[in-house]
Amino acid sequence: MKDLFPGLVARMVPLVFSAHRKQRLSILIYHRVVPQRDEMRAGEPTVEEFDAQMRILREYFHPLPLVEAVERLQSGSLPDGAVCVTFDDGYADNETHAMPVLKKYGVPATVFVSTGFLNGGRMWNDTVIEVLRNCPDEVLDLRELNLDCYPLRSTEQRLDAVDSILQQIKHFDPQERLALVTRIQKHGGKLPDDLMMTDAQVQSLARNGVSIGAHTVNHPILSSIGGDIARREVQESKQYLEALLQAPVDVFAYPNGRPDLDYKMEHRDMVRELGFKAAVSTHWGVSTTTSDRYQLPRFTPWDRHPLKFAARLLASYRNVDPLLAAVD
Ligand SMILES: [Zn+2]
Repeated sequence: MKDLFPGLVARMVPLVFSAHRKQRLSILIYHRVVPQRDEMRAGEPTVEEFDAQMRILREYFHPLPLVEAVERLQSGSLPDGAVCVTFDDGYADNETHAMPVLKKYGVPATVFVSTGFLNGGRMWNDTVIEVLRNCPDEVLDLRELNLDCYPLRSTEQRLDAVDSILQQIKHFDPQERLALVTRIQKHGGKLPDDLMMTDAQVQSLARNGVSIGAHTVNHPILSSIGGDIARREVQESKQYLEALLQAPVDVFAYPNGRPDLDYKMEHRDMVRELGFKAAVSTHWGVSTTTSDRYQLPRFTPWDRHPLKFAARLLASYRNVDPLLAAVD
């Protein structure tokens, strides 16, 4: 890496972590790591890109386990460049493709699992993507479902169709959306049933030092469901994982994760009451000593080039936002 970057990043690190940027924690958010570039999921890093990113973390930053990082943030003993790696949802490639890289560099990570999709399940947005990838026709006519008629002659058109459908149905009631997606599904032929982990893969991650966190059962937007159902979603995912791993599960990620939109303060209080030690949102930023440990912000540089990734991660330590300050 030093030969790749001719010392540039190494020289920038102490400058960035000058006295003004002490006690800051950057928590990265990933979903998947794919074996090679997948044009239908172009935002997901390949193994090669993820490898370069983890190598940067190991060489220039201080990767820490999430709970340890939160505790050290609160006790004021965080090292400069403190960073945590997290994954949301529970994709199988976290175990098959990300874990070997994490082990190679000794980078701790936390995987937040939505337990309802384990062992052959599929998230509704993935069903839409896979249908649009597989649909053998040049046009997909979904007007009978009150959607549009989508041309599918190129990857771009297929991606446009995915965007359009996801936008149109993402705010639907979950039951209604599931019923609709089930009807869309018949246009896609045989869809993959191994996108998400099996129980054994979750156990394998844990055995290999990856922390497991809860992410609800069915991935609902907590603010759009009743309080009792929300509590059950949070609690049952925790209980399922604890039974599976025979170990406490003490961190949580809010589905979609935007403060005040996807979850409210009542859900934050619920997570604390259910015995979690910390929870992460998707609000962009870094944590400081005043951050609420039940709404930690996250951020992931989107650059494919390792140098840009490193530079943007460094710059993110400036990005302190008072929105999620501790409330108690
Ligand atoms: Zn999620």
